[in-house]
Amino acid sequence: MAESIIKEIQAKSVLVKSKLPDTDYVINPYTGCAFGCSYCYASFMGRFVGKRVEDWGNYVFAKVNLGEVLDKELEKIKDKTKSILLSSVTDPYQGIESKYRLTRTALELLLKHKWQGTVGILTKSPLVTRDIDLFKKFPNVTVGVTVTSTDDAVGRFLERAAPPASLRIKALKTLHEAGIPTYAFVGPLLPHFAATPEKLKEIFDALKAAGVSEIYMEHLNLSPYIKKRLTQNLKGADEQIMKKFYSSQSKSYRAQLDAVIMDLLKHYNFHLRLGGVLYHKNII
Ligand code: SF4
Repeated sequence: MAESIIKEIQAKSVLVKSKLPDTDYVINPYTGCAFGCSYCYASFMGRFVGKRVEDWGNYVFAKVNLGEVLDKELEKIKDKTKSILLSSVTDPYQGIESKYRLTRTALELLLKHKWQGTVGILTKSPLVTRDIDLFKKFPNVTVGVTVTSTDDAVGRFLERAAPPASLRIKALKTLHEAGIPTYAFVGPLLPHFAATPEKLKEIFDALKAAGVSEIYMEHLNLSPYIKKRLTQNLKGADEQIMKKFYSSQSKSYRAQLDAVIMDLLKHYNFHLRLGGVLYHKNII
């Protein structure tokens, strides 16, 4: 993949009310995501910056005035007990965060405004461990790392520019050892898991060893715009792989996989957040 185009932009707002089930606000310091995962549901965000779904992964717009805007927004909010997620449609610790430090700025401002509600982080990047010093200062923080496979080669195939799964699991361990509450986001569930539960078991084993006990899980969402981009990105891949992706969309497939998951959850004594495996159908 070509290197992503980086552009600096001025945001009108940064703190946005959320429609997600367990968070009141979201902060997305960037528009676009250089990790460019082939299954990413956030590819629709391009419509706000004049980009096509197919362009996802090839651009990142940094909201360079985030500090100024967020400071004012937090000043106005009286109830500081609401929950906030960084981030819902970008990765807050993708490569350019090392340069722009916008996620770190957002965390510093939340501390400045004495935020009491849960601050949730979700990333695929080990750069998240850079901010352990800040996480330690929050009364309620929870740091999540997405893990879709323990096989770095699978990651390279579907999450071409994201850090390898092995480094993500290591990051979870580092956070846990630093006393930060962690969770794993296991999703989207890849289509070979129902037939090969041992692959899922490998993920659970690795998460357990990293000190994780809380997880979210999500079925693959192949809404038409996601399917289009995935098909384009996997052009030339084994036809059987594509068939597996498409057949994972049936209700009976999900029921089969859910049964495998419920057994594993019991065995590993993991707490499944939101009470079930998530499934978002045709969100756009
Ligand atoms: S890391 Fe997350 S936001 Fe970025 S492309 Fe992958 S799924 Fe999308």
